[in-house]
Amino acid sequence: MPPCGIKRNIVSALPMRNILFLWGPRMLDKDITYCKNVGSRRADILRKELGVETAAELLEQYPFKYIDRSRFYYIHEIEDEDTFVQIKGTILEYHTMGIGRGQRMSAMFTDGQSQIELVWFKGIQYLKLQVGVPYLLFGKPSRFNRTYNFVHPELTPLEKVTPQMVSGLEPSYNTTERMKNSGLNSKAMRQIIAGLMPEVDRGLPETLQADILQRYHLMNRTEAMHQIHFPSDTRSMQKARERLKFEELFYNQLSILSRASARRLHTDGFKMTRVGEQFNYFYKHLLPFELTNAQKRVIKEIHADMKSGKQMNRLLQGDVGSGKTLVALMVALLVIDNGYQACIMAPTEILANQHLATLRELLKGSSVRVELLTGSTTKKQRAELLPALERGEINLLIGTHALIENAVQFANVGLVIVDEQHRFGVAQRAKLWEKAKGKTPPHVLVMTATPIPRTLAMTVYGDLQVSIIDELPPGRKPIQTYHYSNLRRKSINEFITKQVGLGRQIYVVYPLIQENEELDLADLENGYNTMVQTFPQFRISMVHGKMKAVDKDLQMRRFVSGETQILVATTVIEVGVNVPNASVMIVEDAQRFGLSQLHQLRGRVGRGADQSYCVLLTPAEMSAETRKRMDIMVATNDGFRIAEADLELRGPGDLDGTMQSGLALDFKIANLATDGQILQLARDAANAVLDDDPELATAYTQVYRDNLARLKPVVVEYREIS
Ligand code: ADP
Ligand code: MG
Repeated sequence: MPPCGIKRNIVSALPMRNILFLWGPRMLDKDITYCKNVGSRRADILRKELGVETAAELLEQYPFKYIDRSRFYYIHEIEDEDTFVQIKGTILEYHTMGIGRGQRMSAMFTDGQSQIELVWFKGIQYLKLQVGVPYLLFGKPSRFNRTYNFVHPELTPLEKVTPQMVSGLEPSYNTTERMKNSGLNSKAMRQIIAGLMPEVDRGLPETLQADILQRYHLMNRTEAMHQIHFPSDTRSMQKARERLKFEELFYNQLSILSRASARRLHTDGFKMTRVGEQFNYFYKHLLPFELTNAQKRVIKEIHADMKSGKQMNRLLQGDVGSGKTLVALMVALLVIDNGYQACIMAPTEILANQHLATLRELLKGSSVRVELLTGSTTKKQRAELLPALERGEINLLIGTHALIENAVQFANVGLVIVDEQHRFGVAQRAKLWEKAKGKTPPHVLVMTATPIPRTLAMTVYGDLQVSIIDELPPGRKPIQTYHYSNLRRKSINEFITKQVGLGRQIYVVYPLIQENEELDLADLENGYNTMVQTFPQFRISMVHGKMKAVDKDLQMRRFVSGETQILVATTVIEVGVNVPNASVMIVEDAQRFGLSQLHQLRGRVGRGADQSYCVLLTPAEMSAETRKRMDIMVATNDGFRIAEADLELRGPGDLDGTMQSGLALDFKIANLATDGQILQLARDAANAVLDDDPELATAYTQVYRDNLARLKPVVVEYREIS
C-alpha cells in the first residue's frame, strides 16, 4: 500500500505514434539512407533524433509552419521578430569589426526608402558582398534595443532568384539542436522531402473510402501529402492539413471504438433488471434530500446499461460537489438487489474512510452490510472480513488499492466503482474484473471530478460510455476566488481570524512534488509553524502523505470533527474530502498547481450553506502565463471551462498540475486543443463504419482493417507518480 496521497497513480495513455504509417508503396517503405539528399550519416541522425526509419515516415514530418514567399516587405513594415520576411534592395556599405573569434561583418542594407543593418558572426570569409548590386534578402529580423537588424540573413542576387523561390508557401520543419549542428536544418529537411515528391505524385494508396472523402469533403491522400509539404496556396494547404488530421483522428477513433464494440459483442454482462427492496427502501425512507435531475438521469443511464446484458464500462463525470457518491450508492443498491456484491475503490485511505463513514451514515436503518478494506486493516480484521466477503455476506466493500490484492475474493461481484479515475490505471481496473469468479466481468463505473475536455474524453476515455452530472445540488453559493501576492500576509491573516471567528474551518494547502519533496515538506512544516505562532488561539492540524497512516487519520479526524479549525496540508486533501463547515481554501504557491488541480482544491469548500472563499497566493513577480491562469480561476467556477483553458495553455501533455501527467497523446498533426471539431467528425465517421460492420469483416472495410492492424494499439498504461 503506497502512502496515502503522495504515491499517486494516474492513467497515461500512450499514443498512436505510428498512426500515419498507413500506406505502403514499396518505394516509400525503403530505408531513409537511400533517400535523395540523405546518405548514411544523415540517416543516422534522423533515426536518432526523429525516430524515422523509412521514407514514408519522413513524409510524416509535417511542416509546423509556412513562410509566405510571395510577399515582399519594405523595411518599415517589419513589426516583430518572429516572421520571416523578404526584401529587395542593395548594400550601401560593409565592413568587418573586431578580430579573431570576436570578428563580425556589418553591412547597411536599403530598400530605397529606409536602411537596416545586417550582421554576420560566422563564415565571414565566404561572404562575397557587393555594393550596389540588387539582392533579395530573406531572414528573420532580431530586435536590438529599439531597432531591428538581421543576423545571418540569406542574400541572393536578384538576377539569380527563380520564380519558384518566390512563389507560394515555404514549409518550415522542426529540427533538433543536434540536427542543426550537422547541417540538417529546416532547409535541408525541405530538400530531402522535396526529393520524395516524385514518388508521392505517382500516387499513394488511399486510406479512406470514397464515401467518407465525399461526405466530409476531404482531399485525396496523394494530393494532401503533396500540398501539406509544398502547398500551391493557403487554401490547399489548409485542406491538406484538414485531411491528414481527419485521417489521424479517424484511425484513432476507429481503433478505440472497434475494441469497445468487440468487447460489447463478445462480453456478456450481468443483467441487473430488478429494482428491489434495498433501492426502494433507501429511496423512500433514507434519502436525505431530493435527487437533482442530473442525478436521476445518470442513475437511469447506468441502470439501462446494467440491464442490457452487456458489460457496462461507463465514465461518470461530475464537477466537485455534484453528488457522485450518492449516485454510486444508489447504483450499488440496484446491484445488491439483484443478488450481487459491489465495491468502491478510492485512491487514498482518507477517502476510503470518508466513503465508509458517509455511506454507513446514509444507510443507517438499512440491512446492507458495508465494510472497509485498506492497507491499515489489521490481520485480525482481515481474517474476519475476507471469508465473509467470499461467502457473500458483505454487500458493499469500500477500499483502496488493497482491494486488488489476490487474497481479496468476492462471492459474486457485479459492480466495480472506481472513484477519481485519474489516479487509477486501466491495468488496475482490469485486475478488478478478474475478481469475478465466472467468465462474466462485473460492470465498471469510473467516477471522476476532473472535468475532462471533450476531446480528451473522446480519446483517452473514448472506449467508455459517458454520463455527466451537469448540475449542482440546490442552495450552493458560488465560491468567491481571489488571487493575492503572498506579500499580503497581514490581510490574509486577518481574514483567517475573522472566518474562524465566525465558526468556519480553513484549509491551507502547499504544493508537493516528487523531485522537490524534501524542500516542499520543509515549506509545509515552516508554514505550519508560522500558523501555530500567528494563531496561538486556534487549533491546527497538519497532514501530509509522509506521515504514518494512524497519525494522518487522527489529524484528519480532528479536522473533520471540528476539533481543529485549520488544516495545513499537501494535496492529500485534493480528492474527495468532504467537510461542509470548511469554507476557506488557501493555496500557497498556487502557480505550481495545474488549473484542474486548483479547481479540485477549490471544490473542497463551498459544500455547506455558508459563503466560501478560495485564496490563491503567488509570488508578486509572476510569469504572464501564471497571471493568465490565476485570472481564469478568479473568473470562473465552471470546471469544464477551466479544463478547456488548461488544455489550451498547457497542451494535452501536462494536465495534472505539479506532476508530469502521463496523458501524453502525441499526434503527428492533430491537436486536441484546437481540433475538437475534426475529432467529432472523425468519431462520427468511425461510428458509422462500425454501425454497418461492427467487426470490420467485409471487403469494403478491408482497408480499415489492414491499416488498423499496422497501428500500435493505444496503450493505456499505469504509472505511479508522486
Ligand atoms: P462529489 O461529486 O464531489 O463526490 P459528493 O458526493 O461528495 O460530491 O457530494 C457533495 C455534497 O453534496 C455531499 O455533502 C452530499 O451529501 C451533498 N448532496 C449530494 N446530492 C445532493 C442532493 N441531491 N441534494 C442536496 N445535497 C446533495
Ligand atoms: Mg467524491
